[in-house]
Amino acid sequence: MKTTAIVLAAGKGSRMHANIPKQYMEVSGKPLIFYALRTFEESFIDEIILVVSPGDIQYCQREIVKKYGFHKVTHIVEGGKERYHSVHRGLHAADPETDYVFIHDGARPCVSEKILERAFAEVQEYQACVVGMPVKDTIKIADSDGFTAQTPDRNLVWTVQTPQVFSCSLILKLYDRLIAEEAQLWQKGIRVTDDAMVVETFSDVRIRLVEGSYSNIKVTTPEDVPVAELLLRREAMEKADWKASEEKK
Ligand code: C5P
Repeated sequence: MKTTAIVLAAGKGSRMHANIPKQYMEVSGKPLIFYALRTFEESFIDEIILVVSPGDIQYCQREIVKKYGFHKVTHIVEGGKERYHSVHRGLHAADPETDYVFIHDGARPCVSEKILERAFAEVQEYQACVVGMPVKDTIKIADSDGFTAQTPDRNLVWTVQTPQVFSCSLILKLYDRLIAEEAQLWQKGIRVTDDAMVVETFSDVRIRLVEGSYSNIKVTTPEDVPVAELLLRREAMEKADWKASEEKK
């Protein structure tokens, strides 16, 4: 059984309003992208495809992959204009023998091996699964004038995170179709913002929701940075405690 992670870091990060792309911004002394790569590197995943902005390949090779010894990174590829272009390019760089792909936002540093394990177990049964969490707040659907239009049942609403995990042959086929039919989708006003949407749009495959974590945040705006630092520190402390208790046994 072969598994590939596609780690996305080709976004502009414009909501961060920083002069350095957010994926390379220092968070607890390391570039943001380091943390997700470390989790995949230390996990059961066989290969990692890193997708970066045009022009960043050599920088990433030197300053991220080589510097931190990420031996599972087999390819660094150029991303595209939209997230789904970046995913499509990553998918085509994956080993053709791979069975399952884990598509992950590099801007989510707190993904854990436990989340990867839960998703892996589910994808082997269902072919498609996404990590997420039930919402804590009541959610309103707004109308276009800025008034509330509907209140969905909170028990059925999830915020969706990454990784989103699929059988490789399925997701590759559906992404090829998305790229072929991209213009028609834009015409219809459909904007593809995650991978599950590609499966929902072009197939009948049901996508299993898998428990992620409220800590698995996406670092998007400046106020997310101290939160991520706190979560990473807590995670490091928990790991150290666990190691110490294992050594005592
Ligand atoms: O823009 P958004 O927050 O949805 O981006 C999620 C992830 O996708 C980020 O890690 C970002 O770097 C990546 N991305 C990408 N290529 C793009 C846009 C976003 O790899 N064109």
